[in-house]
Amino acid sequence: MPCLFCEIAGGRIPAKVAYQDDTVLAFHDINPQGPTHILVIPRRHITSLMDLTEKDDVLVGNLVRRARDLAKQTGLGERGFRLVFNAGEDAGYSVYHVHLHLVGGRRLSWPPG
Ligand code: AMP
Ligand code: ZN
Repeated sequence: MPCLFCEIAGGRIPAKVAYQDDTVLAFHDINPQGPTHILVIPRRHITSLMDLTEKDDVLVGNLVRRARDLAKQTGLGERGFRLVFNAGEDAGYSVYHVHLHLVGGRRLSWPPG
């Protein structure tokens, strides 16, 4: 069974793309948890946070900075937003290809559910 986000990164499954370059792709979540909900992923398959190594540090920095830029571009820079990496069952991790959630556009409660 091919990885869903690899299929999206390869253009074989459609997504509403918000940003792309050689290493990073950002697209709108199919089941948005707020007025803005974008997923930022590495094009290269990494199964989960648990598989990151030191050589991925630049890539992870790029994911975070790109998500921050997208937050700014969608007008969330002033009002705020949340960036989330889920990992494992307790966090409801469901697509096993590392992704950073950008959620915003509404008041977000803390602690999260
Ligand atoms: P997580 O629970 O962190 O693994 O998040 C996976 C996210 O992927 C969920 O928010 C889903 O709504 C989202 N998702 C699943 N399938 C698609 C898809 N085909 N296009 C866009 N987002 C998707
Ligand atoms: Zn993948």
